[in-house]
Amino acid sequence: MIVAEQKPLAEILGSIDGAKNVLVLGCGTCVTVCFAGGTKEAEVLASSLRLKAKLEGKELEASHFTVQRQCEWEYLDQAGDPIRAADTVVSLACGVGAQAVVERFPEARMLPGLNTRFYGLPTSHGLWEERCAGCGDCVLDFTDGICPIARCSKNLLNGPCGGSHDGKCEVNDSIECAWQLIYDRMKKFGHLDRLLETRAPKDWRPARDGGPRKVEREDLKLSHREAEGEASAPA
Ligand code: SF4
Ligand code: SF4
Repeated sequence: MIVAEQKPLAEILGSIDGAKNVLVLGCGTCVTVCFAGGTKEAEVLASSLRLKAKLEGKELEASHFTVQRQCEWEYLDQAGDPIRAADTVVSLACGVGAQAVVERFPEARMLPGLNTRFYGLPTSHGLWEERCAGCGDCVLDFTDGICPIARCSKNLLNGPCGGSHDGKCEVNDSIECAWQLIYDRMKKFGHLDRLLETRAPKDWRPARDGGPRKVEREDLKLSHREAEGEASAPA
């Protein structure tokens, strides 16, 4: 899931400066699970904005509305009326949902209410840990299921640095050394010989380094090109 945290109230208040009618738009999927941007958080934030404005003698209407997913048009469209009625939308979705608001409702003034952090796993109640960095060329087959990119502090691909001690990362004792975990898994499955392999450098082109990425279904490519052609054809 995508893990995010709410921005500090002071930062949100600073960004909405000048707004008279704010809609706090929640998202009912990942950010609900990590208690950052669901219905409850949207309601609390709208109420905090109203209260703060009242204390400062400012005029501000703040309402809230939550859709199941801000990152899909069919859900986002359900918020069309409240979005159009507001002069400012504070999106409590991840950066994808927040930008979906801008793409679907280009007239809306959208401000982010969350800081999107990572792709993570809830490992305990109230604790989320990073597990994937979306590199586009997964190496979990080689590492026996432990990601060296998201979980090694130095993103090392060819084994540990010299600082690993007692299974912990030298960057911080609270971090498990990813390469210790990889070693343990390789040992368990009889794959330790892999550590002696000389591997070609990882192909980073499918990662962010290659620019904004797309995934497109082969069988729909033609219809996408036709739709683009229609959109760009002179009227
Ligand atoms: S290797 Fe890449 S795709 Fe696989 S888990 Fe790590 S970051 Fe994610
Ligand atoms: S101690 Fe382990 S996790 Fe930390 S940087 Fe070194 S190899 Fe990576």
